[in-house]
Amino acid sequence: MSDISKALEAIRRPLEYAASSPQAAQRVRNLDVLIARQARELRRRGVDPEVQLALNELTSSLVGLEKLDQDERMLRLRRALRILDRLSPSAPAIQAAPEPVLVKPQPKPAPQSAAALDESIQFVKGVGPKVAQLLARRGIETVGQMLMLLPRAFDDRRLITAVEQLEPGERATLVLNVLEAMPKMRARGRPMYKVRAGDDSGELTLAWFNVPAYIPQVVRPGIRLVVTGEATQFRGGLEIHHPDIEPIDEQTEVGPSLHYGRIVPIYSEIEGLSKKRLRRILDSALDKVRGKVPDPLPLRLRERLGLLDLGLAIEQAHFPPEDEDPEKLRRMATAAYRRLIFDELFSLGLGLALSKRDLQRRPGIAFKIKTPSPSRLLEQQPFVLTAAQRRVLEEIQGDLRKPVPMNRLIQGDVGSGKTILAALAALSVIDNGYQAALMAPTELLAEQHAKRLSAQLAQLGLRAALLTGSVRGPERKRILSELRGGLIHLLIGTHALISQGVEFKRLGLVIVDEQHRFGVGQRAALSGKGTLPDVLIMTATPIPRTLALTLYGDLDISLLDEMPPGRTPIKTELVTKRGRAKLYRRIRAEVKAGHQVYLVYPLVEAAEDSDLADATASCEQLERKELKGLRLGLLHGRMKPAKKESVMRSFVAGKVDVLVSTTVIEVGIDVPNATLIVIEHAERFGLTQLHQLRGRVGRGEQPSSCLLVVGGAPGENAEQRLRVMVETTDGFRISEEDLALRGPGQFLGTRQSGLPDLRVANLARDVKLLSLARDEALRLVREDPQLAAAENRPLARLVKQRWGEGLGLGSIG
Ligand code: ADP
Ligand code: MG
Repeated sequence: MSDISKALEAIRRPLEYAASSPQAAQRVRNLDVLIARQARELRRRGVDPEVQLALNELTSSLVGLEKLDQDERMLRLRRALRILDRLSPSAPAIQAAPEPVLVKPQPKPAPQSAAALDESIQFVKGVGPKVAQLLARRGIETVGQMLMLLPRAFDDRRLITAVEQLEPGERATLVLNVLEAMPKMRARGRPMYKVRAGDDSGELTLAWFNVPAYIPQVVRPGIRLVVTGEATQFRGGLEIHHPDIEPIDEQTEVGPSLHYGRIVPIYSEIEGLSKKRLRRILDSALDKVRGKVPDPLPLRLRERLGLLDLGLAIEQAHFPPEDEDPEKLRRMATAAYRRLIFDELFSLGLGLALSKRDLQRRPGIAFKIKTPSPSRLLEQQPFVLTAAQRRVLEEIQGDLRKPVPMNRLIQGDVGSGKTILAALAALSVIDNGYQAALMAPTELLAEQHAKRLSAQLAQLGLRAALLTGSVRGPERKRILSELRGGLIHLLIGTHALISQGVEFKRLGLVIVDEQHRFGVGQRAALSGKGTLPDVLIMTATPIPRTLALTLYGDLDISLLDEMPPGRTPIKTELVTKRGRAKLYRRIRAEVKAGHQVYLVYPLVEAAEDSDLADATASCEQLERKELKGLRLGLLHGRMKPAKKESVMRSFVAGKVDVLVSTTVIEVGIDVPNATLIVIEHAERFGLTQLHQLRGRVGRGEQPSSCLLVVGGAPGENAEQRLRVMVETTDGFRISEEDLALRGPGQFLGTRQSGLPDLRVANLARDVKLLSLARDEALRLVREDPQLAAAENRPLARLVKQRWGEGLGLGSIG
């Protein structure tokens, strides 16, 4: 192997791994840096200009990879691989061909039946090597993948409107003769093209601004066109700007075609491929598979639920039947979409059910729970448990007794009292001679837990220890050895707890606080530690039921739906620009009364062209001006951990009056003396996030307030959205609202949420189908836990293909 091909191979391996799945892509760090380094090295050794160029392309296509969203990242990775293919001397066929043959026909070990969908897209009429290359950039290489490129909208072109019937503002389809061209006009310096066109009933003008080169060639006098667009009134006549046009062949009459006389699919354009081109390709792709699409759903199920046959559903998802209701199409509520959405949610439900079943078949620890419950700890508390806490505690203890691993999620709003439940669960396990671990999402929170729980456990003669990334050296060593020796009963920390080198003597229970930061994969890593401990997950993000079913379908869920008594509700107000002066007076008054204040900003430092207030600059200015004389502290995510902690500690100790911060204070921080939180640019935050932030106050006896400052000129939408915060403190209502407004992708922040990546279904919209699919999945797994029956085997394959990696499913298929 030459040096160059060796270096190329060194680039290829990590790239191939990263491109193998979104999960893998996320796992690989600094790929861009690594590859840039290799490329630089190659260039240094001297390579052809052509290779040089390709290397440049390769490195630039990977710049900033980790910051991209998943789709874009996968796209870039695949593109990079193709560039590499071009470079690699081991692929001579590719270099010899005038146009690279990028999609090689696959040898076919696959079962005969799926063959039609798995066939290379190149065999579809209208797809040459060039088009295949464009499609491959979008990850489309087979006919099946092509067919999953669903329209983003539909245009109802069933009716042909006559010019005299056309109303301004109306979108319509007409058949027109082009009468006269007015080619030399310009609008604001840009070329413009206008023609007069008409039918028997009248005339109008078609106009293109910034005219595409092909338009004057196609739209010339004497030509007949099908025209779709919206009419506008202009100087006494009607005009249609940038209409969608389709020339009619002289011979053919107006009648059904792909592009008019029917409900027409509109695809998001793929670079280099027009909507119309895509429509034609999809039509040919459908031709290829018609009657050959195997249906993985058992016939009985399909009939019982009234679901369309898969092949038909795919066809109608692109080209709806003549009598389809356009309104239903708009809502993706047609029979065709119902079937596709069901499939996606059903396979997800099956995946989750199977992974839950997998877990329940593994041996767990059957703890003995003394009743009444670990009352020694409860006796220390200045309160009695609420009814909801008692109920959830019983659910937890029920799980602990069972000989299978617990996998339970406690969902309870901010301040609902989850920590004491965690402590009680830990104590039950410790009483049985086991150890427990408590994981928090930040060091700050871990520290807070450790401080409280160590004191409480110490009174019972038990030991808790704190282990985070910043515990190092001899102290770390000592903790690790005591842990192995069984001298530490409860270990508290961040996810450094599941890092290597942390060994327990006898781990019985893992508790995860603030679960929404942990994805499915991390849950798997947890269970891998020791001999299958029980797992208890606590989340303060009140996830709507529909979403919880999907996110946590593999967990049992406990709802902590009652607040401890005696809380004074937080008063929330919207503050607009004019209320600013009053704002600072409020802050001063609060501090004068001996209380503390949070002041939250959306950014750390202002981006250059952004007018968002930012924490750093604001803190400086406030210190000099508006809040002169008060003790201010600055806290943000980019500060060193040690610095962060010292600021936070000062605030906890009451040495800082006003904590100016970003959202780092979002979860879990508990400073009861803080009674006012001011959130700048509140419109920039999601409702759920605002709810979390607001939960930082109202934690003591004093009445608390939350001021949402609306910056800039918010749309009506923003204010209306924020109204919800004023009206309610019910986290579940807020999260339902948030989900409906922002959609599931934005809801929890895609990156951390572990939210499954859905293609057709929409969790906010398809609520009913979601429960149906889940119920059916549970029923099927109950009937056939292995999905081993002949009629279920295609389903098993489908589930594994679609969700196998994400859910760590090994045992099926
Ligand atoms: P979260 O669910 O947000 O983690 P915590 O566990 O931190 O809430 O509890 C919030 C506060 O409520 C704590 O100060 C805790 O001691 C107190 N608390 C918990 N349970 C009760 C109860 N049953 N009655 C009164 N106060 C309670
Ligand atoms: Mg908590």
